[in-house]
Amino acid sequence: MLEILSPSHSSSALRAAVFDFDGTISTLRCGWEQVMRPLMLECIAGDKEITPALENEVDRYIDESTGIQTIYQMQWLARRVAAAGGPERDPWAYKDEYNRRLMRRVEEKKRALESGSAKPEEYTVAGAAEFLRSLRGAGLELYLASGTDDADVKKEAALLGVADLFTEIKGAPAHMAACSKEAVLGMLFEHRGFSGESLLVVGDGKVEIALGKKHGAWALGAATDEVNRRGVNEVKRRRLIAAGADAITGDFEDADGIMGWMDINL
Ligand SMILES: [Mg+2]
Repeated sequence: MLEILSPSHSSSALRAAVFDFDGTISTLRCGWEQVMRPLMLECIAGDKEITPALENEVDRYIDESTGIQTIYQMQWLARRVAAAGGPERDPWAYKDEYNRRLMRRVEEKKRALESGSAKPEEYTVAGAAEFLRSLRGAGLELYLASGTDDADVKKEAALLGVADLFTEIKGAPAHMAACSKEAVLGMLFEHRGFSGESLLVVGDGKVEIALGKKHGAWALGAATDEVNRRGVNEVKRRRLIAAGADAITGDFEDADGIMGWMDINL
């Protein structure tokens, strides 16, 4: 069910939609927080005990930074470790370690998809592929902008069978700290001349929702319960509403409701 927070804009002139990938379309990286949290806690605490105050601080940071590029989160970690009297380390070294741990879980799922023992639907938010096809059918250009490494997001979108639906897929450039979401929106506004109201931004992170709102785009918060691949996760919902989402959905099974809100006729 779509939860509408702002009424639909005057009349629909939608031309493009920008989607986040992880947590919005894909659940392949579901549970990344359970990889990042212990990494941060053990690095900051060092040989000292992990206190409840540190746990709170790390939980708060992960919550507020969801959706930004991993390297920024690792820059925070490097600063925090140094502030705690730990070793000065290159944030990229932390990112390599985080990726190594995360990929152990992700690779297993990717192998299952490649061998055919798992189906794309098992790692896709309910109704996402059909919703993307409906938007394409309505004449919208689709863009995928992700904070995950560029090569990985392209490969994972292909494994889930949605890569061909996008005009462009943009992930994080290798060993460069730059926001792919800002880059895609900037390209659409500055080079393509799109107006805010012609653009729909869909994501489960406050970063893309806040960016969309800043530019006057329609912002659909995808507060998906990633474990079940459908329904609303309350923590995400509150975070997305605070970021300014115009509407909240837990999945894309009610595509008609979403299209109706956007005044798109099929
Ligand atoms: Mg996401």
